[in-house]
Amino acid sequence: MSALALLGGTRTKTKAFPTWPQYDDTERENLLEVLESRKWWRTEGTKTKQFEQDFAAYQQAAYGIAITNGTHALEVALAGIGIRPGDEVIVPNSTFVATASSVLFTGALPVLVDVEADSFNLDPDAVEAAITERTKAIIVVHLGGMAANMDRLLEITKRHGLKLIEDSAHAHGSEWRGQKIGALGTAGTFSFQSSKTITAGEGGIIISNDAAFERMARSVHDSGRLPGEWFYSHYNSGSNYRLSEWQGAILLAQLARLDDQTGRRNRNGLLLDQLLGDIDGITPQLRRPENTRNGHYAYIFHYDRTKFANVPTARFIEAIKAEGIPNQATYPPLHKLDVFQSGAYKQRLSGDQASATPSFLSQPFPNSEKSYAEAVWIPQYALLGDEADMHEIASAILKIQSHARDLC
Ligand SMILES: *Cc1c(COP(=O)(O)O)cnc(C)c1O
Repeated sequence: MSALALLGGTRTKTKAFPTWPQYDDTERENLLEVLESRKWWRTEGTKTKQFEQDFAAYQQAAYGIAITNGTHALEVALAGIGIRPGDEVIVPNSTFVATASSVLFTGALPVLVDVEADSFNLDPDAVEAAITERTKAIIVVHLGGMAANMDRLLEITKRHGLKLIEDSAHAHGSEWRGQKIGALGTAGTFSFQSSKTITAGEGGIIISNDAAFERMARSVHDSGRLPGEWFYSHYNSGSNYRLSEWQGAILLAQLARLDDQTGRRNRNGLLLDQLLGDIDGITPQLRRPENTRNGHYAYIFHYDRTKFANVPTARFIEAIKAEGIPNQATYPPLHKLDVFQSGAYKQRLSGDQASATPSFLSQPFPNSEKSYAEAVWIPQYALLGDEADMHEIASAILKIQSHARDLC
């Protein structure tokens, strides 16, 4: 019998990883407080308002606008910078669909570009090559919490007069050159969906340092109202994206743990870089010196099957799961999704954008394809474990490597 747990051997991992989500009496007390206050609505409540101020301050931004979820946060941010039909917004091809679908919701065209082979983040050269006279903005994603090359992206947006939105759904607490991400460009958006590093099941926020943007985005999220004006005066085209007090109550409690938990994930991520970096055939996601802190929505590494007796990635993942190491699915490249392949994405477009087929749909995306097929993601809650847990992750991989032939 093989030593591998997948084939009946003993599991590497005996002690369980921490569970997610986490809560204690603070969540319970905050919820009860909202209940008994009878102020369940964001407009007259205090919890969501407090949370948006505290979270923005934590991310070193002047303003925070709490939003129903991370997808809506992107939609409101795009509306806040004035994206409209006919515009183009550059987005990475390796991300959750929301990064692109939010652009379609404004009636603009998301232009998909490839990512870097080593960081899996937006490739600045590919961005430059995709800029046209219709390009209005770039949405960057900090994949797995690792900030993209912000120096180059900010320089490009400045030189071309574009806006930059950071889709920071993976990157609560992450830094670039010692500065928290999210408000480095015009705006940053976050998600508090249940897999994210602070959560209320659903939820989101926009942060910014730009007062004019904040005024417009806040108005859009609250039915086009303006602060201090009569309740039934509506100045802008908006909708209702307000976050409830229940979620504000939970998020305030979650926020109190975020810095400690981010510190732990960051330390464990650095330890895994060392331990896994030493394994032939495993290459951790590129961490640049400017990535001074990683909030680690996931720990991502590249798997080279040729160093594992040619065992396919999917089989390798089955084997590490059997050893007790959790795994998170990687994103299919956006251009391969049905919504793009079938042409359904054009439902939101008008004019020539609705009739033409953009060139990015016939382009190869070698790095997005490779990261889908060959990257492995360990979810954030595993990084809340201790050092011994990290050593066990490395042992499990080494064990699979030394018995890889058993899997063929
Ligand atoms: C989670 C996520 C979002 C937003 O998701 P919601 O579920 O709408 O909160 C946006 N972008 C990325 C990259 C995400 O992972």
